[in-house]
Amino acid sequence: MNEHALVTVTLEEPMVAGKNPRADSRQDSHDHIPGSVLRGALAAVWLREHGTGANTSPEFERIFEGEGSFGPLHYASSKPVPLSMLTHKYEPTDECHTLWWDRARGEKASYCPVDNCASPLEESKGQPYDEVPSIDRTMVALSTEGVALDGSLYSQRAVQDGLLLRGWVHGDAVRALYPEGTAVDSLLLGSRRSLRGEATVEVDTEAVPEPVELYGEEVVLRLAAPGAFVDEFGMPSATPDPEELSEQLGVSQVEIIDSWTRWEEAGGWHAASGLPKPVERVVAAGSTYRVKCVELPTETARRRLMARGIGLRRREGFGALYRCEPPWGIGAWTSKVAPLKRSRRLLPAFRKRLEELRKGVPDDDRFHKALRDGGFEEDYAEAFRTMLRIDDVKLYEQLLDFLEKP
Ligand SMILES: [Zn+2]
Repeated sequence: MNEHALVTVTLEEPMVAGKNPRADSRQDSHDHIPGSVLRGALAAVWLREHGTGANTSPEFERIFEGEGSFGPLHYASSKPVPLSMLTHKYEPTDECHTLWWDRARGEKASYCPVDNCASPLEESKGQPYDEVPSIDRTMVALSTEGVALDGSLYSQRAVQDGLLLRGWVHGDAVRALYPEGTAVDSLLLGSRRSLRGEATVEVDTEAVPEPVELYGEEVVLRLAAPGAFVDEFGMPSATPDPEELSEQLGVSQVEIIDSWTRWEEAGGWHAASGLPKPVERVVAAGSTYRVKCVELPTETARRRLMARGIGLRRREGFGALYRCEPPWGIGAWTSKVAPLKRSRRLLPAFRKRLEELRKGVPDDDRFHKALRDGGFEEDYAEAFRTMLRIDDVKLYEQLLDFLEKP
């Protein structure tokens, strides 16, 4: 069994992954698939195959309750803006090249330096990168026995179907992806029995995780999910354990020299007992750490750490990591794509691609074929390729608007 696997999920139906249930009529929902939801769905398949009695077997405990990691599944715009980022308080102008300033890389400013903008900058709160495609569903409230309650309608936000989400599974948890020996190819995802979203699943054991970011001798770790850390007395800690980091990075010593974090509370549900877990203090997704290493960690160790994550409760998706390249403003791109303004012929196809990009699945074969068939002038072809390289939905849409403007 490989040490890690990249899991890609395509939602065939809208999915509701409820956050902690609330008393009012609106239940808030996650905008991605938390690791705990992926793990719950895989455990359900496992028990269907092996019988419900299997949940006390040593194998089940090793896979689902052990040291492995079930990372969250994200798409580009559901990832959190790292807490180390300073972002535009007001909408950036078309002239702004820089949109975010990353304090984890020593970038600092109070205002955007572009004269026509001069927007004050504000600290990220870990909000998603961009608007998340979702739909509202109106539901009938059910009693605890599963009977519809008269007149109890409520609305619930669901993650839109058609989206493609990705994340890593690491260690003993990889075995969970093979409930019957072969890789699982579909799952019912969601935290409510009445509202499970069907999804197709692809398991890739050849995929290589990107390494965690390294700048000189300093590693920057960013949390794609909340992080659960404790200090030497077992009390909640806002920072990861340096010993865990040095061991996982394969260096003799590390020092956490800076951090950008925010506390929040995490509950959870203990499936075996059917009881809620006690609420715990954790740090929010988007929390960022700058870690000085005595020796240079190898690229292999940095890739491994990316798939594994850090801290406690990794099997529930806590402590998952990601890289973040701050997006460039449209001002940095318009001159690069401007040659496409010479002919409007391709614009309808580029517009169609926007919808596919929103769902994370652009089909670029026809574009690559058009490029190969050629006949384009070199600057036009290069601008064409630039458009295809952009996977940031918001930026792509802004550039399209720019190109469509007469
Ligand atoms: Zn600006």
